[in-house]
Amino acid sequence: MAINFACKVFDDSEMKHRLPDSVFESLQNTKKLGNPLDPGLAEAVASAMKDWAIEMGATHYTHWFQPMTNITAGKHEAFLNRNSAGEVIMEFSGKALIRGEPDASSFPSGGLRATFEARGYTAWDPTSPAFVRDGTLYIPTAFCSYNGEALDAKTPLLRSIQALSEQTMRILRLMGNTTTKSVTSMVGLEQEYFLVDREKYEKRLDLKICGRTLFGAKPPKGQELDDHYCGRIRLRVASFMKDLDERLWDLGVISKVKHNEVAPAQHELAPVFSSANIACDHNQLTMEVMRQVAKEHGLACLLHEKPFEYVNGSGKHNNWSINTDDGLNLLKPGKNPAENWQFLLFLCAVITAVDRYADLLRVSASCPGNDERLGMNEAPPAVISINLGNHLYSILKNIAEGRRAVSDEAHYLAMGVDALPALTQDDSDRNRTSPFAFTGNRFEFRMLGASQSPAFSIVVLNSAVTEALGEFETLLAASSDIPETVRSIVSKTVAEHGRIIFNGNNYSEEWRAEARRRGLPEINNTVEAIDALIQPKNIALFAKTGIFTENECRSRYEVLLENYEKVVFIEANTMLEMLERQIIPAVTGYLGSIARSYNELYAAGVANDELKSLITELSGFESRLISGGRELEALISRGHTIGDARETCGFLQKTLRPYMTSLRAYADRAESLLDSSVWPFPNYTDLLFRV
Ligand code: ADP
Ligand code: MG
Repeated sequence: MAINFACKVFDDSEMKHRLPDSVFESLQNTKKLGNPLDPGLAEAVASAMKDWAIEMGATHYTHWFQPMTNITAGKHEAFLNRNSAGEVIMEFSGKALIRGEPDASSFPSGGLRATFEARGYTAWDPTSPAFVRDGTLYIPTAFCSYNGEALDAKTPLLRSIQALSEQTMRILRLMGNTTTKSVTSMVGLEQEYFLVDREKYEKRLDLKICGRTLFGAKPPKGQELDDHYCGRIRLRVASFMKDLDERLWDLGVISKVKHNEVAPAQHELAPVFSSANIACDHNQLTMEVMRQVAKEHGLACLLHEKPFEYVNGSGKHNNWSINTDDGLNLLKPGKNPAENWQFLLFLCAVITAVDRYADLLRVSASCPGNDERLGMNEAPPAVISINLGNHLYSILKNIAEGRRAVSDEAHYLAMGVDALPALTQDDSDRNRTSPFAFTGNRFEFRMLGASQSPAFSIVVLNSAVTEALGEFETLLAASSDIPETVRSIVSKTVAEHGRIIFNGNNYSEEWRAEARRRGLPEINNTVEAIDALIQPKNIALFAKTGIFTENECRSRYEVLLENYEKVVFIEANTMLEMLERQIIPAVTGYLGSIARSYNELYAAGVANDELKSLITELSGFESRLISGGRELEALISRGHTIGDARETCGFLQKTLRPYMTSLRAYADRAESLLDSSVWPFPNYTDLLFRV
């Protein structure tokens, strides 16, 4: 193989080569079977890891963790130390591998940590491999408070993976499986992003500070010709993508698919799926490496959900399934799904889970950026439903109604040309409008925003499915006839949770009305969505499955509100600054220059009435912009005086953000009237088409 895949990863083959057999075996059992970590092996692992990392050019190590900021953190420490003889040595102890102690007070904790208890701990996650990047050994870790409460995205994810695995094992045994040793959720994360020219990006305060444009007149061309999606990749972008792939492969990320997306300057990357924990680590790594490589290529990578108005924004698709260590995908229907009892059981668990906890899934896909994208006919709507495809749905309904269910024969597509190969038709067509679609052997949750950590959406799925499976376990344990029990579980699921299944067009008005009739929750924005974290039923789910204590739920609620507040205030302040220091001066200057032209013409005996009316129109916009700036400033101040976080967020969502949208409209109109050479920053055409 020409590529040296995972050459910067301390992976299984490297460990096997460098660790004593017994240490390697024990670590494998922890990693693959979830056995408790033997603390005695830390010394041996640390020493081998250090030697390897130094050979790879590392001088530092870091406990790499994922605080509740959607990005990662870590402080870098050199291996250097002084020994008792006073000599400087390269040192890395077992203790340093296992435990780190960053100051937790500088990360969001949602009240879990009083300032006097600043201690936080990072704990080595042996289930995700360490790697070397830019001269530092990165050790994936979980981050918790002094009292062991989760302060990050990884800890609850690991808890949920364990809960689902244990629960699924019990079900498999009841179904007669004696060979499987462990189960894990598998995840493939498709990542969308924009690339713009760095120099132009640097000239836009909104892109630099907020990651999205707060102003911008509609360009003459957007995405209407469908000429960008999967189109030819420009040379500059292709060279970025090549470097990105190589960098990711070095780090063990199996980056596989790359293509242009729907909007101009928008692209997508999809890796091969892997176990949920590694998939999440790799997604974080992918986002970081994307930003870095873009910068090296004179580009800027935008991961915001809606960098540009008038064209599609960026999402992240979470493809999720449950797999066993011996290669079974429990969501694979097989040739005869109508009598695949195990498949039907897991399918029913997912349907039950999604219907009961649609509100939690909704909050897992909520952030201020995603509010600009969801429900806009470019992304799934705010209402969650499952697309099963007609074939699978009819099997469930037939079983529920006591009819014999039959599985379809494979269909061949009629393409009308004998020379073309015979293609079999998939069981279900893709439904790109569905927020949660069955895609043949997995579910695809399509609501996540591009910038978000995918971990919480997996936590929700894993825990909700664990709960449903727990209920099925009770029924199966008492049953002497498995097929009969599964059939009755199918009936119950269709009766109680069938309302969540919708195979039609999720963008249509009829569906909104229908969803309301069915009583499905319609949660239209992040602020409302956050409330789900403190609903008693959701607190109970997390407590029962051991994912979060009530305290931890409440802390996440606070963290999300705090984040919303900060993001919106930063956007409002950025808008104000661009307005007052860039846009208004540009409009004023231009007005002056055309007024002078008018006077000169007038003095020469030409009365240009059209020019005069342009001056009047522009001057009207100028006044609106000036008074709008004052009003925006007043609203920001009002927002700061409210106090209560939930109330502040409500005000920002209902009053401040809509005001910003209306103010933008005036500025955008002014932009379209001004000489482009005096507009103070690059416009949409520059950004979207001059990469
Ligand atoms: P599409 O754009 O049509 O949804 P892609 O090929 O871009 O398809 O992405 C599909 C993603 O789903 C990939 O990351 C792929 O590895 C992942 N995937 C495939 N099979 C599974 C599975 N059984 N479980 C989880 N993810 C899967
Ligand atoms: Mg997809």
